Order: sequence, then C-alpha cells, then structure tokens
Amino acid sequence: MFLSVFDVFKIGVGPSSSHTMGPMTAARRFLDLILSNDWPRPAGAQVTALKASLHGSLAYTGIGHGTGNAVIIGLMGEAPDTVDPDRMEDIIADVERTGRVTPPGHPGYRFLPREDLVYDKKTPLPGHANAMRLSAFDKDGRLLLTQVYFSIGGGFVVTETELAAMQRNKKAAATRNVPYPFASAREMLDMARASGLTIAQMKRANEEAVMSRDDLDAGLDRIWDAMSGCIDRGLRQDGRLPGGLNVRRRAKSIHDKLQEEWRSNRLNPVLANDWLSVYAMAVNEENAASGRVVTSPTNGAAGVVPATIRYYLHFHPEADQEGIRDYLLTAAAIGGIIKHNASISGAEVGCQGEVGSASAMAAAGLAAVMGGSPEQIENAAEIALEHHLGMTCDPVAGLVQVPCIERNALGAVKAVTAASLALKGDGEHFVPLDACIETMRQTGNDMNEKYKETSLGGLAVNVVEC
Ligand code: SF4
Repeated sequence: MFLSVFDVFKIGVGPSSSHTMGPMTAARRFLDLILSNDWPRPAGAQVTALKASLHGSLAYTGIGHGTGNAVIIGLMGEAPDTVDPDRMEDIIADVERTGRVTPPGHPGYRFLPREDLVYDKKTPLPGHANAMRLSAFDKDGRLLLTQVYFSIGGGFVVTETELAAMQRNKKAAATRNVPYPFASAREMLDMARASGLTIAQMKRANEEAVMSRDDLDAGLDRIWDAMSGCIDRGLRQDGRLPGGLNVRRRAKSIHDKLQEEWRSNRLNPVLANDWLSVYAMAVNEENAASGRVVTSPTNGAAGVVPATIRYYLHFHPEADQEGIRDYLLTAAAIGGIIKHNASISGAEVGCQGEVGSASAMAAAGLAAVMGGSPEQIENAAEIALEHHLGMTCDPVAGLVQVPCIERNALGAVKAVTAASLALKGDGEHFVPLDACIETMRQTGNDMNEKYKETSLGGLAVNVVEC
C-alpha cells in the first residue's frame, strides 16, 4: 500500500506501537462503530456494557506492553497522538474505581477491567498474531455488536474485512494515484533513473499529490520536533523504569559523562558511537516509561531514526532543516517498501522487522543527506537490513526494555556504518534490497512463534527476573 511519511512516522505513546498504540486506536474505532449506523442495531437496543479480549501476542505480552491499559484509555475516547502521557495513570485508576468508561459523546458503559478485559492465550484468532475482539452488550447481557481488530505493526489497525481487502488488493494499493508509485526498491531505482530525481524528491512529489508543500513541511518539522523532544526528555530522566524488572535508566548518566568528556577535550575513539547510543537509549527509555514517542517505524524501534538524525546534526556541519526533511522522506520510502513486501511487526517476523527496518531506514536517510545517489541509498538500506536478518523478538517479561533499549543503540550504530560503507562504493552491490526484504519475510515465516513477541523463548526465558 502507498504509505505516507505520516503513516510511517506517527506521534504516539509508548511502550509499543502494535501492543499499545494499535489497541488504543482499535478501542476508539469501536466507540465510533457503536455510534454509527454501520451495524444492524435491533430497534430500541441500547449499549450499556463493553468487553474486550486480547489474543495471540497481545495476550502473551500484553501486560508488559501495557495493552490492557491502552484499551481502557482508548475506550475513554483518547487517541495515541493526543492523550497526555502524564494523565494516563489517573484515567486508568478512575475506570478501575468506577467500573465505567465515559468517552465524550457516549452515555457511558460498564467496563470493569478485572472482569471485562481478558488476556486469552488459548484462542489465537486467524488472520494475524496481534488480534483483539471488542464486544458491546445491552442491559440484559445480550450481545449487540462484536468486532475483531488486528494490530498489524507500527500502530496500524485493521478489521478482518480490511485485512482481507488489503491482501487482495496489495498491488493496486501500492500504486495509488501518485506520480512515483514504486512498490519495490527496483521500481524506486528505475523511476529515479528515468526522472533524474532523488528518492526524497520522488517521495515528496507523492506526498504533495495529496497535501500542500507547506502542510508537508510543517508535518515533517512536527515529527522531528517530537523526536527531538523525546531525546531531550530521556536525557533528563533518572531512576528505574516501570514494569517490575527494575531496569535502571542509563541515558542521563551516560550523557553526563559524554558532556564531561567533551568539555575536557579527552580523546574518545568511539565518540560518535557513544553519542548515537545515548540518543537512542534516551528515546527507548522514554518509550518504556510510556512517554511521548514517534513510531519509526514502530515504538520498540523508535530510537534508531531520531538518534541518527541527532548524530547528523551533531557531527555534520552542513546539516540543516531541509536535510532533516529529506532524511525523513527517504527513510519513509524505504520503510514503506519493507512494510509492503514483508513486515515491520515483531509479532510477525521478529525484531529484524522492527530494529532491522529502522536501521535500514536510518541508513538510507543518512546516505541521502550525505549526498548519496539513489543506488548508494538503496545499498545503505540493504547493508543495514542484511545484518539484522534472523534477529528474534524475545523481550524479557514482555516489557519493551531488555533487549530493546540497547538494541536501538546498536541499530543506530549499524545504520551509520552501513551509510558510510555504501558511500564509499558506487552503488553497485551484490544483494539487492528487494532480495534482502524477501529474505526477511521468509525468515520471519519460518521463525518459531516463541521468538515473535510472545516472550516464550530466547532471552525472555533465560534471564532471571529480579
Ligand atoms: S525485541 Fe525488538 S521487536 Fe521485540 S519488543 Fe523489543 S524492539 Fe520490539
């Protein structure tokens, strides 16, 4: 499907795009459905109570990922991009105390989280690993309306019907009415060659087919402001992360040391790596604490892109706002191709689809702003993705903390290395990006479910929780 840069980069809250933002959005969509006339409402029937059940990966790691809380907040009518992260705890406490959700414009419904929110690990729903069912009842307990939603990664939510339509119309959706309808890296390179445009210019032309240049630029600047604000907040916070693992926040203390080193002019042979890591960790610590983040392309992988943009601003004297816009457009082009042809969901293909995709996007963005040709940019994305192939998703205790926080740091370092390697060549290389994406898809299909965001294998079962 044609993915706008604003589908790839979405402002929301942590800790997970698929397990927090998606379910919050699904709950809100269900509220809209209740008010609509899109269902056969029996005459005089009044919805008085709601229930939700989580299935597949949402059931297995939903507690650690805050899925239940996200459903409650969504049923209170809040959305990921506008909810105030500092108010979320109070909203949840209120619903638990009253046993009611009271979204604006609705009469209010019974919803007692400990009874009406079920983590159903026994019944996966066919269609996708991240599934949830929302149901509405009348005062006699009669089922009036039920809807299944799938959270397909990056905060995207679809119904069963929409998922089936997406699978049927894959090619058509990818080539929506835009001037450069590339659905693969090969097509992207062919169109760049034929048009003489850069990848960022083609992506800009596609976006400007549906919005003005001013709106596009303002939106891109808002995305970077949100990313940058997240880095800064993460660098200020201390203490332990919520969730019970007792993981210490480290970004602030590492940042303090780096600043001290910078002031004293001490030689640090891995200076750039340290700064990249601390920026990425700051974002992912904020994500783990349910702070405001931007999907890039997911929340779990939200640190890689912002870290590499901050690195670009910090270490490249020619960096400017136009460069950041080009970076985001290029990265979104690559993210869209990966999502269209494989997946960006840890529950579908493991962490190669999350941090691997983020690293590929970041490598492409960096290569673009460092003057790379379309071929060099495609090469940079391929190198970064290739060296994440096979990476599993095994978050300890179902929390987006270990290995996720450090993994973003390493994803950012690999992205810079990939961009640098690609820029030292002429763009000609052995493994095409499309082949690498297809390999990721196949590897994800073959991956045991234990390693796809269920916390039933890998580090999740080998690390003793203290
Ligand atoms: S291991 Fe990777 S895919 Fe899994 S939750 Fe962490 S960041 Fe996301």
